[in-house]
Amino acid sequence: MIHDSILGPYQEIITAKAKDNKVTSKSQDGGIVSSIMIYALEKNIIDGTIVAVPSKDDPWNPEPMIATTKKEILKGAGTKYTMCPNLSLIKEATREYGLEKIGTIGTPCQVMGLRKMQTYPMGARNVTDKIALSLGIYCMENFPYESIKTFIQDKVGVKPSQVTKMNITKGKLFITHTEGEGKIPLKETHGYEQSGCNYCLDYVAELADVSCGSVGAKPGWSTIIKRTDKGKSLIDQAIEDDVLETAPIDEGKFGLEMLNKLATNKKKKNQKNIDKKLDLGLNIPFTHSSKKENPYENR
Ligand code: SF4
Repeated sequence: MIHDSILGPYQEIITAKAKDNKVTSKSQDGGIVSSIMIYALEKNIIDGTIVAVPSKDDPWNPEPMIATTKKEILKGAGTKYTMCPNLSLIKEATREYGLEKIGTIGTPCQVMGLRKMQTYPMGARNVTDKIALSLGIYCMENFPYESIKTFIQDKVGVKPSQVTKMNITKGKLFITHTEGEGKIPLKETHGYEQSGCNYCLDYVAELADVSCGSVGAKPGWSTIIKRTDKGKSLIDQAIEDDVLETAPIDEGKFGLEMLNKLATNKKKKNQKNIDKKLDLGLNIPFTHSSKKENPYENR
């Protein structure tokens, strides 16, 4: 196990894409998250998972759903750039659906919440021992739904119902819609993110079993960080069973270097924000000042 102060604990990093066309055609960045969850379901490693699906009224304002079939998992395919409270359905998944082995998909903060819940299962007894898999997704920041609406309506000039895909890459938010495509430089989206994201130090879901995201991989692929033994064995098995096409990660500036750079930048920037708040005497739970020495400064 490598203990990296920027990328967290991990065993191996590779790049991959799903081989199943039914998955890739509905997904983003190679369909890794959906295909891993479908594979885990088929191999009985999980008996269900909680996915973020488009809500009836607004497809870009997702809601959590308990998925117990491949078809249902695929309903949650594709990235949504606003929060979805997936963990809120964990109790329902065990108590109403009777799931014994739950898979979870979440942003780094949601993975942290999950691990906290497992460590201190107050109010969640008989639930936490049923968490079988945690899949984390890279996250630099996230937007409240009202911000997403502003990007779509005011900055790109279309209705949310016209949007077919959103994607953040190369410093821009790309919004594909029925009339074409709009792009917004990420510089212009600053200030619209959730305020809590400005104090978040985790880009790569350091506490997950497996973390994934497009950064560091070629277009249409994702990087996969195999972390725990459970996560590594699941991914290795999926590769052996021909579910994933893989390639080693490029060590250079568009590969591992890029992943490291973004994770480092997030830690540095947000540690400064934490320090400023603490200097003002404001409390931010589970953080500490780095005033004496910013551990990320020289990275
Ligand atoms: S930036 Fe951090 S707090 Fe914000 S959504 Fe992502 S993981 Fe959560």
